[in-house]
Amino acid sequence: MDLFEYQARELFEEHGIVTPRAEVAESAKEAREIARGLGGRVVVKAQVKTGGRGKAGGVKLAADPAAAEITARQILGMDIKGHTVGKVMLAQPVDIDSEFYVSYVLDRAAGAFLAIASAEGGMEIEEVAASRPEAVARIHIDPAEGVTSARASEIAEAAGLPQQSVDVLVRLWQVLVGEDALLVEVNPLVRTAQGQILALDGKVTLDDNARFRQERWGAESAAHGDPLEAAAAAKGLNYVKLDGEVGIIGNGAGLVMSTLDVVAGCGARPANFLDIGGGASAQTMADGLSVILSDPAVKSVFVNVFGGITACDAVAEGIVRALDTVRLTKPLVVRLDGNNAARGRAILDEHRHPLVHQATTMDGAARRAAQLATAA
Ligand code: ADP
Ligand code: MG
Repeated sequence: MDLFEYQARELFEEHGIVTPRAEVAESAKEAREIARGLGGRVVVKAQVKTGGRGKAGGVKLAADPAAAEITARQILGMDIKGHTVGKVMLAQPVDIDSEFYVSYVLDRAAGAFLAIASAEGGMEIEEVAASRPEAVARIHIDPAEGVTSARASEIAEAAGLPQQSVDVLVRLWQVLVGEDALLVEVNPLVRTAQGQILALDGKVTLDDNARFRQERWGAESAAHGDPLEAAAAAKGLNYVKLDGEVGIIGNGAGLVMSTLDVVAGCGARPANFLDIGGGASAQTMADGLSVILSDPAVKSVFVNVFGGITACDAVAEGIVRALDTVRLTKPLVVRLDGNNAARGRAILDEHRHPLVHQATTMDGAARRAAQLATAA
């Protein structure tokens, strides 16, 4: 789970990393009040869980509280890479001398963490990393050893960061370990004209396996996720949103993954997928269909079920039950095989819904779903 900048900032402060004074607002009026409290001049920052806010116009300087209100009104509701801005953070402006980049990220392949640092931080870091990789230092961190002062000095030296940043590098490691994070990133970490080191932006990704220790962020983050993902999770379903046009429902992770491949092989792109699990009931099928059909990108739906513990007749009944409650506006291609497949197919045949198509093979069903999606 990713945290918002204002949440990352809170963690940094708790671990002794200095950040500019800042507060969050959900309305333009509130932004004006906060700006007044912060001394008038503020940086207004969109709070969305994606980078590149500055380049997208989501980070702006406002000269006084009235300007902060106008700027906040512009930024609230803005779309940044598919994320709608619901909150802005007002931060005291900092007189920047230099901008640095530092992060710790889990490197699974190496079985270690990777420290990445550069003296050329800021909004162009991706370009710097691509065109001059030598300007970005990469040092592996043994998780058992961690970032000691000696190790932090080594990182600072390799990246060309000032000596004063060593303390921040050690504290940032403590954020990573102490808060169950898989990634912590500060870009930019700045040195001010007065020689102080401050974190001006922060990204923290928490390890979902430690969610039981992170109740503090629970409600807030759930409220900002994809609403369909939240609806599916509430029903205990595994739903994942993708970019294409064919909705996919299957039972079992392996079957669902190969269904994605077969659909892609037919020249269509999956819009999403939903795994109703090995022991899926009729109710689960009904819940799953209603989630998939609520995705406006879906042009056709492919239900691919291999009956095992849950027999195909139960799945077919689930589909029929779902069609009583959900108005089907898109074609549904169903492939039932395995336990009680003939009985399941007969149930769907008897129902005679004009938008429900049956196919006996997975390839045939995928072709049909792809055709129907492109024809729509
Ligand atoms: P993003 O990385 O999403 O573009 P940042 O928070 O890094 O957003 O802001 C972009 C740039 O805006 C920073 O690189 C920095 O130059 C400037 N900036 C951000 N916060 C402040 C601040 N409090 N004072 C002065 N400049 C800031
Ligand atoms: Mg940044």
